[in-house]
Amino acid sequence: MSLALARKYRPNLFEDLIGQDSISQTLSLALDTKRLSHAYLFSGLRGSGKTSTARIFAKALLCEKGETSRPCNTCIHCTMANENRHLDIVEMDAASTRGIDDIKELIEHTKYQPSSGRYKIFIIDEVHMLTNQAFNALLKTLEEPPSFVKFILATTDPLKLPPTILSRTQHFRFKKIPEDTVKKHLMHILDTENIDYEQEAVQIIARSGAGSLRDSLTLLDQAIVYSKNFVDLPTVTQMLGIIEPSLLKELIEAIVQKDQPKIFDFLTLASEYEAEMILDELTLYLKALLFEQNNTLITPLIIERFFRVIADSKELLKLGSNSDFVLALTIFKMVESMEIKEIDAMIKTLEKELHSHLEKSSDQPNPTPTTKISQQDIPPTKTPVQEAPASTKDNRFNKLIQKIYDRDDTLGECFERTIRFDKFENGSLYWISTAQDKDKDLLRTHYGIIRLFVQEIYGADTKIVNTQSEEKRQVTSPQETSPTQITPNNQESDEPMSDKQTPQPIKPENHPFVQEAISLFEPKKVRIIEKKIPSS
Ligand SMILES: [Zn+2]
Repeated sequence: MSLALARKYRPNLFEDLIGQDSISQTLSLALDTKRLSHAYLFSGLRGSGKTSTARIFAKALLCEKGETSRPCNTCIHCTMANENRHLDIVEMDAASTRGIDDIKELIEHTKYQPSSGRYKIFIIDEVHMLTNQAFNALLKTLEEPPSFVKFILATTDPLKLPPTILSRTQHFRFKKIPEDTVKKHLMHILDTENIDYEQEAVQIIARSGAGSLRDSLTLLDQAIVYSKNFVDLPTVTQMLGIIEPSLLKELIEAIVQKDQPKIFDFLTLASEYEAEMILDELTLYLKALLFEQNNTLITPLIIERFFRVIADSKELLKLGSNSDFVLALTIFKMVESMEIKEIDAMIKTLEKELHSHLEKSSDQPNPTPTTKISQQDIPPTKTPVQEAPASTKDNRFNKLIQKIYDRDDTLGECFERTIRFDKFENGSLYWISTAQDKDKDLLRTHYGIIRLFVQEIYGADTKIVNTQSEEKRQVTSPQETSPTQITPNNQESDEPMSDKQTPQPIKPENHPFVQEAISLFEPKKVRIIEKKIPSS
């Protein structure tokens, strides 16, 4: 390629400017309505289009068609401007000519009429580089220039400019050009040039340009030469010293699978690269993964943990720590942060184990493992509450109901409706209550008499074991189905409808699984919530 892409594809019109739409529009409007300022300041990242915009603007001011947002590009002024040889456009680079004498010369220049155009335009690039003396000399001219003089100042660092300069110019801030906009533009150029490419490779070039179109184009030039007219991923990553995305994918997979040999392979390979670059690339890869729709590899929670690990590592690098060490540390910390996920799973297992243990200890017919699983899988609210099998009902309970009815119809009705016989075992009468609110209050109020009746019928030492049924959640309000409201047996000790708890061979808080969980997490507070299993 004889011409560098940046020069070949230099924009000729405002509409050709990439990624600076609002600036193009404002300047176009100013030209078309002839509301022109005498001094402009363009600030922004290098390669974001400041100089190109300044040149188009200068040409638009001089075009034979008059000040216009669409210079004709054919008249003598446009032609000369495009060839950078218009006598009335004076470009000065303050990075090299920054002294008082240079500015004095420029000021002298402003005193003479334009040679052929309607304006004399001074473009001062990197204006923040001027010396203080030079600034002071420029200030007066900038404030009251001859009517035919226009200044366009450009800078990457407007904060270094004296406030007096800022206040005398119309300031345009050039944005960093979005990566996707750059990518599209690069692909357009490659298509025009008939050069094959891989989109991913172009994406990396656009990203490496970091918002500067000029830098992106320079990289593209280089990539075309390197890759011998096929801009592919391996060439581009090699050229830029960037690690290939596929390797990062493999690394993340290895971390997820805790594949140590693969992780060590990666670390060996990674020693050829800058650790900071790998961390940056890894961040970008994770970011992409976060937005990937079909990502089943890692959850956003894990991605967030990885981000934190990487952020910590970057701090270590800033402190000048050994980069290979930091990278290895990062990766092992990422592996470890996956463990946290396993702890989540472990808690679930613990819960299940504890759950089935309590189930067994309540002396119910031991369900087979398959039924156990099915019970756990069914949400409690949907579990049908079955009537106790007829064989377990006893006449004594019917007698009890009758006795309560005899005493008080309302109480009898309430008792019959909300209390269900479960079993009578070892001198204890087990029943299941679905009583709520008013019913509960009523039963509580008359608990003494009910208890008396029970002892009359079942024997003097009979104890009452009351179980709150899942059914009550079904019968009453569906809002009560949230797991936080499921109260375990052992927290109902204030329940007067019960004499003693379901026999527990071991207290939940003393259960080995709970103990293990406590030692793992060292909690300040432990709250054990049992999942209720409906009696069957
Ligand atoms: Zn023209």
